[in-house]
Amino acid sequence: GIRVRFAPSPTGPLHIGGARSALFNWLFARNNNGVFLVRIEDTDLERSSRASEENILNSLKWLGMDWDEGIEVGGENGPYRQTERLGIYHSCIKTLLDSGNAYYCYCSEEELAAEREDLMSRGELPRYLGKCRNLTAEDRCRYESEGRKPVLRFRVPVGQVITVNDQVRGNVSFECEGIGDFVILKSDQIPTYNFAVVVDDHYMKISHVIRAEEHLSNTPRQILLYQALGWEVPQFAHISLILGQDRSKMSKRHGATSIEQYISLGYLPEALVNFLALLGWSPGGEEEIFTLDLLKKQFSLDRVAKNPAVFNMEKLNWLNGYYIRNADIDRITELAVPFLKSAGYLVGDVSQEQFSWLKKLMSVVRDYISCLSEVPLYADLFFKEKIIYDEAAWDILRQEQAPVVLSCLRDKISSMEKDDITEGAIKKTLKAITKELGLGGKLVYVPIRIALTGKTHGPELYQVIPLFGREVTLARLDDSLK
Ligand code: GLU
Repeated sequence: GIRVRFAPSPTGPLHIGGARSALFNWLFARNNNGVFLVRIEDTDLERSSRASEENILNSLKWLGMDWDEGIEVGGENGPYRQTERLGIYHSCIKTLLDSGNAYYCYCSEEELAAEREDLMSRGELPRYLGKCRNLTAEDRCRYESEGRKPVLRFRVPVGQVITVNDQVRGNVSFECEGIGDFVILKSDQIPTYNFAVVVDDHYMKISHVIRAEEHLSNTPRQILLYQALGWEVPQFAHISLILGQDRSKMSKRHGATSIEQYISLGYLPEALVNFLALLGWSPGGEEEIFTLDLLKKQFSLDRVAKNPAVFNMEKLNWLNGYYIRNADIDRITELAVPFLKSAGYLVGDVSQEQFSWLKKLMSVVRDYISCLSEVPLYADLFFKEKIIYDEAAWDILRQEQAPVVLSCLRDKISSMEKDDITEGAIKKTLKAITKELGLGGKLVYVPIRIALTGKTHGPELYQVIPLFGREVTLARLDDSLK
């Protein structure tokens, strides 16, 4: 059966790139009735942390992904955190030592650096040339007595060509010549990524390794390890880099890069999932809206693109706006509350009455925003005690017909009951004013908008007035008529 994994290193929050790798694996598993597992690759002891691990898992859950096996949920192929699997690695190391595929290397950092520099100055690929390949027992004794701590290297066979049969990129070949004997166990007995990943993918029975293109150059090393250990090689699929709009590698300078940043900016998970899915995958055709359910049905590896994906922030904003406008209003209102709280517009618990008013507010505001952090920007006028009119506003309020318009509206509103002030009723009222006074729309709407909001732009007046309600509308009209 199909078994895939997401194997993040917990060295920071979950990024766009990692989230996309996770999503492609998850979709592939769900589309094929397979198993999706999550494994934590924490062999970089210094840079790994439990906080990052939690961040990554929470971000995956927030995006709507679940896993059948792995960290937290367990399973029969665990443990699922690499630092808890050291015994397994060490027994495989022993196999490689016994078969002569691995050897101890005592070269110091300085010696290795000198070798690299020397190769580079001659225009050659920096790689380990095999100084410790054939050490005798005496050599090893001497190094040990000097207090040198060895690493273990894999003995790369001479003269072979390793071909990666990649599901996205086709056949990609690498000459062993360029690889150099690589480290599999560090001097502190911790395995390297290339070694641990092979052991884990084998014992976790991974059928397809779907991961970022930057790992393609690691793949021949991993294939060599599979071969040396006598294991079946999984299928590989390397998905393209994500580029910023200037076509350089996506980085902080192109905008938010971590999922947690998008959460705190008020993006919806379904928008981000839709966006991430289209970063390198497309079913063909014009459709841009893909829910998780639809993606699960449609995703396939053969529609994954070879060329780099360009991160288009406008498209993400467009998608997010789309999902905000189409989401359940209760949900979107609940999600907006924290943003209004941190802007200082809401304090303490939200009462039921307040919540129904917030729902009306959000049904208006959501037409104007692309993410929820923009809510306070569009909603501020509904939370002000009083409008302070600036000079330009007063100029408009003092134009000839303005006071007539404002008084006319005042009369009409004051003769209405609180509950009659609906969008439909206000639309009619505004029309009636233009008729009665024989004025063009602009001469009516501009002063009213200024009087009520202090601004020349904003949501439609027939939306604004019901949100203010009778009392606030009358108070503002009075202020503007002073
Ligand atoms: N821990 C590796 C990473 O985060 C995983 C690479 C792989 O999927 O093999 O880049």
